[in-house]
Amino acid sequence: MIDITLIGTAALFPTPARALTAAFLTCGGHSILFDCGEGTQSAARKAGVNFMKADLIALTHYHGDHILGLPGLLQTMSNMKRTEILYITGPEGLQEELKSVLKLARRTYYPIEMIEISADGLKLSEIIRGWQSEARLTAFKTEHCVPSQGYCFTLGRAGKFNPQAATELGVPVNLWGILQKGQSIQLGDKIILPEQVLGEPRRGLKFVFTGDTAFCDNLITASKDADLLICEATYGEQEQAPHAIEHGRHMTFAQAATVAKQAGVKKLWLAHFSQMIMNPQEYLPNATAIFENAICGRDGLSTTLHFEN
Ligand SMILES: [Zn+2]
Ligand SMILES: [Zn+2]
Repeated sequence: MIDITLIGTAALFPTPARALTAAFLTCGGHSILFDCGEGTQSAARKAGVNFMKADLIALTHYHGDHILGLPGLLQTMSNMKRTEILYITGPEGLQEELKSVLKLARRTYYPIEMIEISADGLKLSEIIRGWQSEARLTAFKTEHCVPSQGYCFTLGRAGKFNPQAATELGVPVNLWGILQKGQSIQLGDKIILPEQVLGEPRRGLKFVFTGDTAFCDNLITASKDADLLICEATYGEQEQAPHAIEHGRHMTFAQAATVAKQAGVKKLWLAHFSQMIMNPQEYLPNATAIFENAICGRDGLSTTLHFEN
């Protein structure tokens, strides 16, 4: 299962009512923070998430409303005696863009490593101990006025375990768990592969976080069949679409809903609302007319995604 919390929903600057857009994912006791604008640290506390659990901070781009909370958060992690390595990832230019941020954070008592995610995605268990082997984070290019990327987190699910096949192969019961986790075992001079005792892989879970972007095909492809899509929807009215493009390349509620519909996602949470939007609910019908299962994100909104039976 995956827990997702929307930490904030604002674009550009935080207000008393809305923190800047960021999200927190937890899976098997390990977490990823998506974006970290000014005030994300306090908004995370308010939302009840423990940012100390974050192994990785995934930045969508280097605009202030997505990164200016980093120096403070990194310092707090140090003050709270973090010792575990922290990974930070982002689009091209990561090292250069974060130089000044890390300087501001001063000395930290834990290592920070910047990593790039390849086109195949990152199998989290390969760099961070404790992550489930089926957990993978992929980045995909989005269209903003600066290099930007969204993220897709997937949790694969192995096929059903076949006890009869395991018994026939002579696998002792105490080794079944290893095969169920997708690992091979050695039995005398034989190697038993997980696929010998597991059925066809079952549908897993998928979560997508867009960051700032204009409507684009890449977004639809990356969001295909997601269980939850948190999508930027900076402007409420469809008439503002040209304005959304002129001012940095963003989206409207209707465009976010169109992405959700075309990608066949299960649930859509709108976020990254312009300061001109006092009450996002007023504009929600512009999204639900296109995609019924859309809601306006709000700070602290959370959900748990479960495997289907
Ligand atoms: Zn933004
Ligand atoms: Zn931006």
